[in-house]
Order: sequence, then structure tokens, then C-alpha cells
Amino acid sequence: MMTLRIAIQKSGRLYEDSVTLLKECGIDLRNVKDRLRTESDNFPLEVFFLRDDDIPQYVEDGVADIGIVGENVLLEKNRDVEIVEKLGFGKCRLSIAVPRSMVYEGVASLSGKKIATSYPYLVAGYLQERGVKADIHEISGSVEIAPGIGLADVVADLVSSGSTLFMNGLKEVETILQSQSVLIRNRNLDSDRMELLNRLLFRVKAVKKAKRNKYVLLNAPNEKLQEIISLLPGMKSPTVLPLAESGWSSVHSVLSEDEFWDRIEKLKGAGAQGILVIPIEKMVI
Ligand code: ATP
Ligand code: ZN
Repeated sequence: MMTLRIAIQKSGRLYEDSVTLLKECGIDLRNVKDRLRTESDNFPLEVFFLRDDDIPQYVEDGVADIGIVGENVLLEKNRDVEIVEKLGFGKCRLSIAVPRSMVYEGVASLSGKKIATSYPYLVAGYLQERGVKADIHEISGSVEIAPGIGLADVVADLVSSGSTLFMNGLKEVETILQSQSVLIRNRNLDSDRMELLNRLLFRVKAVKKAKRNKYVLLNAPNEKLQEIISLLPGMKSPTVLPLAESGWSSVHSVLSEDEFWDRIEKLKGAGAQGILVIPIEKMVI
């Protein structure tokens, strides 16, 4: 039977979120631990567990049809694949950091410096665009210790909170790239595999959308109903049900995360009571 083959990170920062996403899409995986590959029983999906660095190439070559990888790795490897969807996890940035004691006055200060990084291609492009000549020294891990042990003057490394840089006496001075994990696909998928990808993508979008929205239930005095309804965008119009106590109604609606607190305050101000907020598991519209 035709299956869609997906490459995900074998272990590391993207592993848990990648497996969880598939699970939330209703795809059961057998024995994910310590395996190189596995299949799903309830969706025609085969999963390959790989080092994240290898995923762009495997997808370009068609060994896997699709993959989950950080934009940072994808752009560094410069492979010809298509980004299908941004996934919203694995957020980080590729930044240049210098010793805290170094006087830094913009990118020109990097001229002639030795830069340790695992992202030589992206760093070279960044410096070239700005007309800065520096000496890029590629190392595969523990980049942040390079200045401390005299291996390099400065680093270009992935940062999320910045605490690792801080602990190593470094300060972040430039951002080369903002990154998150993305779903990528081979450019030449046949129509059967495209159809499977579209089924998977439909589920991924429903999961992502649900995470950004909350289900809201509240009680409203009938004389305030119109005002309260006008504060609720909802998917269509909100559901309104009479309460056992006369003069009151129960209102149900969906609110997105970005406007959530603002709306809740206004709803309370308009006379809403007993406001309940419930997470949504899937959202299909
Ligand atoms: P592998 O063994 O698969 O090569 P790795 O050591 O290269 O793993 P991880 O450290 O697991 O990679 O990071 C995987 C991805 O997680 C990164 O490429 C990046 O997209 C993302 N990420 C998110 N936050 C961070 C962070 N603070 N530091 C490093 N990577 C991060
Ligand atoms: Zn890696």
C-alpha cells in the first residue's frame, strides 16, 4: 500500500514536539523509542528518525517525502525543498555573540575576527551582505565555549533564552535569523502522496488553529445580551441558550488568544458572569 514517508529528528529538541504533533493529528505510532523507522496503524504514514542535519537532503533526494526540521538547518543546508507549513515550535534565533568585555560598535567590529559557528553558510552570507571580512571557523557543537578556550574571538550560535550565552560570558549583538520548525516536502511528489500530504496538512492546520483559540462560556443578563454578543466574534454568531433562572442566558463562543484578555475584560464590564474558558482540541472550519 502507498504510504507517505516523513523524516523527523531522532532525538533532541524537536523530537518530542514532532511526535506530539503527529499524535494530536490522530496518528498512532508504534514503539517510537530506539527505532530508526516505524509505521502508523491508522494512517498510511511511515516515520524515519534521523539527525536533523540530514533531513533536508533526505527530503530533497526523495528518500523521505516530507520532513520536520528547523528553518535554521533548512537554510544552512540550502536544499531544494518546499516549505509547506510553519509549525510554531522549536523557536530560536541564530545570533552573533561576543565576549562581554569586547567593545562592539556594529558589524564592522567583527572585521578580522575569528567566528566559531555550526552555521558557516548562513554566517558567511550575512557577513558578505554587509561587506565584513572575518574568519569563519566551523565547529559542530558547544560553540559557546569557543571564546573562553581561545578557539575563536566571537560566536554565531542558536539562542532561545540567552542564558547559555550569559553563563559563558557572552553578549548577543546581532540576529542573523529568526527560526521555528517547518514541515517541508519533496518538490516532485506524485499525486497519491500529495493527497496523503494534504490529508495530513488538513489535520495539522486544525490542531494549530485549536491551540490559538479558546472556547468561552458565560452567563449574561438578557438586557445586556446584545452588547455582550457584539463583543464576541465567534466562528459564526455565538450560541445563546436560556438559563433555568429567568432573565439570564448562557452564551457560548470562540475567542482567539491574541484578543483573549482584552475581550474577557470587556465582557465582564458589560455584565457577563461565570465566565468559563475551555481549551479546544481540534478546530475544523
Ligand atoms: P541532531 O543530533 O539531530 O543533529 P542537534 O544537536 O543538531 O541534533 P538540537 O540541539 O536537538 O540539534 O536542536 C534541534 C533544533 O531545535 C535546532 O536546529 C533548532 O531549530 C531548534 N532549537 C530551538 N531552540 C534552540 C536552542 N536554544 N538551541 C539550539 N536549538 C534550538
Ligand atoms: Zn543537528
